[in-house]
Amino acid sequence: MTDKQLPAMQRLTRTDERILQSDIFERDAKEPRQDLGTVHEPGRDVTVYRDCDVLVVGGGPSGCAAAAAAAREGADVVLLERYNHLGGLSTGGLVIWIDRMTDWEGKLVIRGFAEELFDRLPADAVAGPAPEDWGSQDKDKAHHWSFRTAAYHGIVTWSPTIDPERLKLLSQELLIERGVKLVYHSWAAMPLMENGKVAGATFESKEGRMAIRAKVVIDATGDGDLFARAGAAYVNDIEEADVHHCMNTAWLFGGVDMARWIAFRSGQPEEFTAFMAGGRETCGLFERPFVSWRDDIALFMGPRQSGYSALDVDDLTAVEVRSHRAMAAHLEYYRAHAPGFENAYMMLSAPQIGVRHARRLKGVDAVLRSRWSEGTALPDEVAVTPAVSPKFPNISIPYGALVPEKLDGLLAVGRHISCDRNSHGFMREIPQCWLTGQAAGVAAAIAVKHGIEARNVDIDELQQALLAQGAYLRPRKEAVAAAAKEQACA
Ligand SMILES: Cc1cc2nc3c(=O)[nH]c(=O)nc-3n(C[C@H](O)[C@H](O)[C@H](O)COP(=O)(O)OP(=O)(O)OC[C@H]3O[C@@H](n4cnc5c(N)ncnc54)[C@H](O)[C@@H]3O)c2cc1C
Repeated sequence: MTDKQLPAMQRLTRTDERILQSDIFERDAKEPRQDLGTVHEPGRDVTVYRDCDVLVVGGGPSGCAAAAAAAREGADVVLLERYNHLGGLSTGGLVIWIDRMTDWEGKLVIRGFAEELFDRLPADAVAGPAPEDWGSQDKDKAHHWSFRTAAYHGIVTWSPTIDPERLKLLSQELLIERGVKLVYHSWAAMPLMENGKVAGATFESKEGRMAIRAKVVIDATGDGDLFARAGAAYVNDIEEADVHHCMNTAWLFGGVDMARWIAFRSGQPEEFTAFMAGGRETCGLFERPFVSWRDDIALFMGPRQSGYSALDVDDLTAVEVRSHRAMAAHLEYYRAHAPGFENAYMMLSAPQIGVRHARRLKGVDAVLRSRWSEGTALPDEVAVTPAVSPKFPNISIPYGALVPEKLDGLLAVGRHISCDRNSHGFMREIPQCWLTGQAAGVAAAIAVKHGIEARNVDIDELQQALLAQGAYLRPRKEAVAAAAKEQACA
């Protein structure tokens, strides 16, 4: 491949504001779509499939956490998912590297639903450092885990890789145990609207179009399909200097020897640099492998492609075409040049396309870059996330980031919650999606129990219910009591 044929590439290096260093590849030119006018679709009556308290649309990390949490609070919950499994991108997208759940001191702050999952995943389905090493700055340990996606800035973190099939199965069984009604192979189409509020959704399946009525809808589609169609305000600006706007279809190579690959990468830096340069020259789009939950399987979560829209069917198709071609080109190059990949084979390309960003809700509040340094609990804190680097303290996630500015009957969770583009870099990660999902699930159940709008739930009640479900947060009540005590002593 000549320089002219190489796709435009920029290289992002890690900073205190971002998680990854990566190559990013610009999109191919787009053929304009012809304007062919419209056809008229007549109105019709639609069969009601079910009534429920809480309808969760989307079975990714945030949707699973929301459904589990709402059901645990006693709500009658339905979860609608367009594919045949739960876990969303964390399983079907082969995003099997679960980002940091410990803060930079090694304290586990991503708890609740996340902990339940890790307590129940079989030992051989998880690879990562032992709890006694979380937060360790031991040079040897940090060096070892830095090649296994579990040490950054010289600190060992709890950011394991997992077996996607085990997570699919566990998520499914956990939700069924809680009494959640699962509906697979069903694609939510439009929100049902009553007096300006969301009151359920219609969906398409092999049975045609049907409807589910619900007291609260939780939009866990990742792309804000429901809140956008219900007329809620949203934004979609991006941070160019991050990977959070890139798309690609991830894949797995089997038959590899990751120990040999890591020995090469860590022990022969000059050869590794030459290998990468050769790969970019030969393949154009080029990516390095990550470890998986097994030493004989390698994970590729790129090449990351920029400039495509996750809401445009031609762009989605183009990313798939490019990614599948990249997978084949990588196999050839890696087999020929990468120690440990001589016997590699194409094991699986992800059934779900890797979309990091589409829309972000405009909520009554948001997770904001301007607050990263504060380190204090917001009054309506529903969760706490580790910061992107040790430079910042842990960051407070407000309930207001899940509540639309104006629209009622709906909460948003996961990678499309209300946040600015910088904070989206980490709020879209799987652990943070579990957090916001669990918070919204509990809030929705409380709203149903009291017959009130989700935006009006009592924050003390919400915080106490989340704590009872094992979540980590700093409740307002305690902060108020501590401030009063301090004042009394002064
Ligand atoms: C390539 C890539 C690499 C990444 N790397 C990491 C990483 O290393 N670590 C990390 O923690 N995170 C990573 N992320 C981010 C993370 O995987 C996602 O942001 C996270 O999974 C989002 O969770 P979610 O529940 O919001 O949405 P999703 O995981 O996207 O789940 C949404 C679910 O909703 C379903 N759905 C969507 N629309 C409809 C509809 N209309 N009707 C019915 N169902 C619908 C989908 O089928 C899907 O199952 C990465 C993401 C990508 C794309």
